[in-house]
Amino acid sequence: MTIPPAPLRLSLDGDALVANWRALDAMSGSAACGAAVKADGYGLGARDVVRRLSRAGCRDFFVATWAEAATLGDIAPASLSVLHGVRAEDMDLALAGPARPVLASAEQVRRWREAGGGVCDVMVDTGMNRLGISVEDAASGLLDGLTIDTLMSHLACADEDVSMNARQRDALAGLRGRTAARRMSLANSAGIALGGDYHFDLTRPGIALYGGVQCAAHAVHIRQVVFPQAQILQRRHVKAGETVGYNATWTAPADTQVAILNIGYADGYLRCFSGKGGAHSGDRKLPVLGRVSMDLLAVGVDAAAELAEGDWIGLDYALPETAMLTGLSQYELLTGLGQRFDRVWM
Ligand SMILES: *Cc1c(COP(=O)(O)O)cnc(C)c1O
Repeated sequence: MTIPPAPLRLSLDGDALVANWRALDAMSGSAACGAAVKADGYGLGARDVVRRLSRAGCRDFFVATWAEAATLGDIAPASLSVLHGVRAEDMDLALAGPARPVLASAEQVRRWREAGGGVCDVMVDTGMNRLGISVEDAASGLLDGLTIDTLMSHLACADEDVSMNARQRDALAGLRGRTAARRMSLANSAGIALGGDYHFDLTRPGIALYGGVQCAAHAVHIRQVVFPQAQILQRRHVKAGETVGYNATWTAPADTQVAILNIGYADGYLRCFSGKGGAHSGDRKLPVLGRVSMDLLAVGVDAAAELAEGDWIGLDYALPETAMLTGLSQYELLTGLGQRFDRVWM
């Protein structure tokens, strides 16, 4: 028997995704604009994101691990890079497929060269102290003999106006012509807005593709892509003075119509939304009442008297505003969304 549709879904705006990529591509000037699709496309579903952006003209995609690369195998994007490089146990898969490791340590460089691995990318650490070989190693022969597509680095503070950005940019620029790399790349979403000297040959936005706004320059261009919606499982009349939910944190000040929705913290709608999250039906606002449960949520529906069991309600989930409201980052708001949603492209 077929499994019925889930009582919760992510409504995904494919036009907005493509429009966001086009806007970031335009902001990237003459540099190519790729797409970070790690963590299953930030929770949207990497396969669908890659298909849609490939059709729009995007060629360069980035995942974190070889398992993520394998899930895209049959889609065969034009260019796929694995950001965490290549461990000994990844080598068989890495040598077999078209995806490139982004070699991230001297050990990985040695491993890849000794295996005769073919085209790779290389991550250089320019100050973040996360992944990457040192600038000195990159400039002094460690990479000799490798066939390098893209030499890249990653900005630690791209969403802030701090001098570290220019230091990182200059450190990478100093490697121009000193390696055999065909291309160079630095900017993530926020880095694109720092200006042309941060674009190099290829930009690598992630969060902004999916509706994240990290800087004022993006606010006018970037559209919301992800719209969580949940079905009403029950409607009830709560009398004045009664309470709703765990620990009875919300007391009805007057008789109140309440809808119980099929979504909770196990779906990534975390407890920090308790008492302050919002939902909507059309343009009518519906407040979250009391604590978020593991799989359930109560909202007040006095403003929407016609709503009944089985109807769908949208959760307020514009990323910048929701991050401000909850203290979660825009990245966490997307990547935390769980596996129980049906992901439906509109
Ligand atoms: C995740 C990631 C990106 C994309 O970053 P956003 O801030 O989501 O735009 C780019 N480059 C690297 C190396 C990454 O890990």
